[in-house]
Amino acid sequence: MSGGIVIVGGGQAGGWTAKTLRDRGYSGKLTVISDEPYDFYERPPLSKAVLLEPQIALSRLFSEQVVASLAIDWLRPARAKAIDADRQQVILDDGTQLAFDQLVIATGGQPRLPGAEWARHPRVMTLRSWDDALRLRQHLRQCQNLAIIGGGWIGLEIAASARQLGVDVTLFERQPALCMRSVGNDVSAALLALHQQHGVTVHCDCGDIQLQENSDDPNHAWIATGCSAAQPFDLVVVGIGVELNLALAESAGLQIEGGIVIDGQGRTSHPAIFAVGDVTRHPALGISLQSWAYAQNQAISTANAMLDASAASYDDVAWLWSDQYQVNIQILGIPTGGVHHIARTDAQSSLFFTLNSDRQLVQMVAFNDARAIKLGKRWLASGRVLDPQQLADVEFPLMTLK
Ligand code: NAP
Repeated sequence: MSGGIVIVGGGQAGGWTAKTLRDRGYSGKLTVISDEPYDFYERPPLSKAVLLEPQIALSRLFSEQVVASLAIDWLRPARAKAIDADRQQVILDDGTQLAFDQLVIATGGQPRLPGAEWARHPRVMTLRSWDDALRLRQHLRQCQNLAIIGGGWIGLEIAASARQLGVDVTLFERQPALCMRSVGNDVSAALLALHQQHGVTVHCDCGDIQLQENSDDPNHAWIATGCSAAQPFDLVVVGIGVELNLALAESAGLQIEGGIVIDGQGRTSHPAIFAVGDVTRHPALGISLQSWAYAQNQAISTANAMLDASAASYDDVAWLWSDQYQVNIQILGIPTGGVHHIARTDAQSSLFFTLNSDRQLVQMVAFNDARAIKLGKRWLASGRVLDPQQLADVEFPLMTLK
C-alpha cells in the first residue's frame, strides 16, 4: 500500500470525491491529476453569470482554505494517458508512472463538434471550461449576431445569456423539438415559446448543418442548413453534446457501455478502480446522466464506499435544473414509460407531469416552482398513484397530496 488514492480529473465529481474522502477520515496520500490549472470549480455559472458579468471570478467548489486542508498532491496541468490495471499504475503524458491503491476516474467529457473544420474556425466556439467561458464572454461583447448549433441545455442557456446582452440569436437544432432527449413534447414546446418570446429565432428539424469555407470573409462564420441558404454569423457556438473521455478506461480494459459501467458504489469492473460523474453509465438508469446533482452526489456516495464497502449505494432520483431569463427550470426523473402527459399553468408557474400506465410519476418539470419539485420527489419515492384531472386543475391544491 504505497500509492494511496489517485483521482484523475479535477472537475466537480473529482472535487467531491476528494473532499468526501477527507471528510470521512481518509488520511493517506491523495493525488489529483487535472488538465486545468485551477482549483475545483462550479460549471453552472459558465453559461450564465460568467457570460453576463465581466468582473465575475471563478466560482470555487470549496473555499481556498478548505482546498488547502484537503492536503492534495496536485498534478496540474497534467494529463494521464493510460492505466496499467494489473500493475495499478497511471501513466502520465510525460511517461511518469504513478502507483495507486485505489483509482477514481472522473474524466468527464469534451464538447462534440460536427467535423474537424469547425475546430479550426476562429469564430466557432464551444463551452465547457472556465477558459472557454472567458473566451466566449470576450467574443460575445463584440458580437451582433450569434448562431447556436444544438438546442440542448447548453445551447438554450447561452441563447438566454446572449439575448440579455442584446445579441441577435439564431438557434439550429436537428431534432424536431428542443431538449428532446431529456423532456417530453409539451416541455419542448414551452421552451420554444420562452425563447421565441425573448426574440430567439429557432430552427428545429433543420437537417444537416454545414460550416462553409469563405476565405474572403474572415470576420464571419457561414452556416448552411438543410432548410436555409448559407448565412454569415459573427460567432457560432456549438452545443451538440459531449464525447465522454473514455480513453483511460479503455486502456485499463474496463467494461464500457455508453459510459464506464459502475455499480451503485461507483466500482468499475476492476475492484480497485472507481468512476464518478459524466463519464459513468448511471448504475440504475443505464445512461450517461450529465447533471450537476449526479456529479456531486454520486461522487460523494462513491467516496464513502471506497472507505467502507458496506456504505449505501447511490440511489438519487435524476434531477437537473437550468436558469434561462427569469425562469428557473427543474427536471425530476426521466421521460421514459410516459403514458399520461399533463400540463398545469397559472400566472406564476408551469408544471408538466408525465405518468406511467399505473398513473405514477415518471417525470416532472417545473418552470418557477421549486416547491412543487419537492413534492414530486416524495411522489416518486413513494410511487404514489396520481389523478391526471387533479394535476391539471389549477384550482386543486397539490400540497394536499403530500
Ligand atoms: P445536449 O443537452 O445533449 O443537447 C445537444 C442537442 O444538440 C441535442 O438535441 C442534439 O440532438 C443536438 N444535435 C446533435 N448534433 C447536432 C447537429 N449536428 N446539429 C444540430 N443539432 C445537433 O448537449 P449540450 O446542450 O451540448 O450539453 C452538454 C452536456 O452538458 C449535456 O449532457 C447537458 O445535459 C449538460 N448540461 C447541463 C446543464 C444543466 O444541467 N443545466 C447545462 C448545460 C449543459 P441529438 O439528440 O440528435 O444528438
